[in-house]
Amino acid sequence: MSRNEALKELQNVLVTRRNALRAALKGDLSCLRELTGASGELADFALDSVCGETTSRMAEVESMELAHIDEAIARINTGDFGACQGCDKPIPLARLEALPQARLCIKCQIKLENSGFKDWSELADAAYDSIDS
Ligand SMILES: [Zn+2]
Repeated sequence: MSRNEALKELQNVLVTRRNALRAALKGDLSCLRELTGASGELADFALDSVCGETTSRMAEVESMELAHIDEAIARINTGDFGACQGCDKPIPLARLEALPQARLCIKCQIKLENSGFKDWSELADAAYDSIDS
């Protein structure tokens, strides 16, 4: 499979995941339930009791993931999907397969984590400021 074909598949994964997350955030967990492969009344009960306790925390995590996925889908539309935001090099497919919404290659991700910034644009801004002054 070529890189372009692989990227297309990842795009489908992202869109499917986004739709499931959106539905889940609206309170309909059936989509996520399908994704996790659970079924039957016992699974319903287990999910309900688990979700009851952690709904707000889950919603927080899910809405953050949803924001990242939305961003990745926006990058698909601008043709930037699969390129590292830090160094502009193509992000290795293995990394994208593990994390389709990844914005940075592993090298830049480590650089970002070591910098203490949350976002590459903040790191870039800080670097720009320091050059400026
Ligand atoms: Zn990079």
